[in-house]
Amino acid sequence: MRRLFIVILNIALLLILATAAPLAKNQASPKTRRAAAARSEALPVAAVSAMSSIDPERIRAHVKFLADDLLEGRGTGQRGGDLAALYLATQFEIYGLKPAGDNGTFLQKVPMVGVTTDPHTTTFTVIPRNGQPMNLNYLDDYVATNTSQQSLSDIDADIVFVGYGIHAPEYNWDDYKGADLRGKVLLMLVNEPPSDDPRFFKGKALTYYGRWTYKYEEAARRGAVAAILVHKTDMASYGWDVVRNSWGGENSYLRVEGPQLQSAGWITLEVARKLAEASGKNLEQWMEQAKSRDFRPLPLPLKLKEHLVSKVREFTSSNVVAMLPGSDPRLKDEAVMYTAHYDHLGIRPEAPGDNIYNGADDNATGCGVLLEMARAFANAAQKPQRSLLFAAVTAEEQGLRGSEYLGKHPPIAAGKITLDLNFDDVHPWGTPEEVEVSGAERTNFYPVVQATARDFQLKIRPDPHPEAGYYYRSDHFSLARVGVPSFSVNEGQKFKGHPEEWGAQKASEYNRKHYHQPSDEYRPDMDFSADAVMARFGFALGWKAASLPQLLGWQPGDEFEAARRKSAAAAAGN
Ligand SMILES: [Zn+2]
Repeated sequence: MRRLFIVILNIALLLILATAAPLAKNQASPKTRRAAAARSEALPVAAVSAMSSIDPERIRAHVKFLADDLLEGRGTGQRGGDLAALYLATQFEIYGLKPAGDNGTFLQKVPMVGVTTDPHTTTFTVIPRNGQPMNLNYLDDYVATNTSQQSLSDIDADIVFVGYGIHAPEYNWDDYKGADLRGKVLLMLVNEPPSDDPRFFKGKALTYYGRWTYKYEEAARRGAVAAILVHKTDMASYGWDVVRNSWGGENSYLRVEGPQLQSAGWITLEVARKLAEASGKNLEQWMEQAKSRDFRPLPLPLKLKEHLVSKVREFTSSNVVAMLPGSDPRLKDEAVMYTAHYDHLGIRPEAPGDNIYNGADDNATGCGVLLEMARAFANAAQKPQRSLLFAAVTAEEQGLRGSEYLGKHPPIAAGKITLDLNFDDVHPWGTPEEVEVSGAERTNFYPVVQATARDFQLKIRPDPHPEAGYYYRSDHFSLARVGVPSFSVNEGQKFKGHPEEWGAQKASEYNRKHYHQPSDEYRPDMDFSADAVMARFGFALGWKAASLPQLLGWQPGDEFEAARRKSAAAAAGN
């Protein structure tokens, strides 16, 4: 029944869009034609027809396979992850897409190092100048990983509280004040100074400065030996069990040179409280001090004695990259990119019970969407002018590593990639009446996004949690860092036949019970209409971006504008 209904719906959609297209063109005077093209109500009939072939049941089939226990949670550097990559490459090959990985293959090898902290032999002790040493328990009290990729580090160093650990010249904020922190252990708060002023750390929205990745990078740049973040659920916007699950197993990094921390970790709020007390203060006082622009690094009467034992293994993981060449001889050197990460947290053989992190929602769904869009484009009777790149990336859960590598080594120069659309956690919860495109408003593509959302009768849902900094937490961010206008496409919370609270409740239940847990599994009652709608929406946006006369860019003053200029200059020099 549902299938029949969808077919009827598709035919209706096709008719509406096909007739709307010439109307829009006729109304436009030559002067406004370019603006109309930018708003682009008009998709060619071939595009509408290809888009309409996107099928929720095909997406289901991909998710069912990728989230199967046999795929072992698609861990980066694990057999299951490699199997998933092979599956994705095979699908691209079946669709007749061109390989865009290494040496004429669909796989782009990503050189990585996996680091697993040994919980049995690692010790982590805070020694107050006066008072008893505190031996902390791995996973219960703290987590730590050796980002310098060494198997043994012995740390015996003074702890310095550095507030938020941020140096942000554009907000006139510097927690470091030029202090010499070489060889020190930096203790810092997660997130950034609280603000309602959009000109100060973007108000409530989180900027990159609030992310833990930035904090470790900055600490390493300053020559610190270790960094410890204080976990606070509301400030991190996720609970300790997320830290625990994400850090309890292997952490992977790109094989890199440059300064790295011997120990990068987190402690619980409870432990932070004890450390503050052992320093003759309380945690609230520290937090208050950190809010001030006058904050200076605070040497504490505490030492960290850490014996960090790690299993280190070098391995190669793969991004899976396919290309559909554009139809315009001039524009086909430029591209629209689609990304979705295929990795999840893998299998933890030593853990009791269900120890497979299947990652059905996160992110077999995004892969299903990516594959369906790729198939639809490949089968289209007419191709868009610019080329299309489809990249299923690895090691997202390890800190966006696969997309970081892809951003640094794109098959088409970053300056010639007009747009990246990313799909992550596209929940199979029915027919959406909203779409989330957070970050799109930072680009000059936004009017097209708005017009397309109207065509799809989708209401654009503003970022419900700008304070959580989701923009910096999925793979489009890696492309934004090299200047490519990028954002994720996802459904909002209003679904057909349900009040908005229903969607909100589903989202909160997912976050509490299933996010990064073994229970994020495929279930037959999942409804992939949402994924199909998002795939069609992404298809339409991509087609339009691939056909606009100009490459897209950022709004003036955006934090990625400089990166875009740099990559454009590099591409022009090629
Ligand atoms: Zn994800």
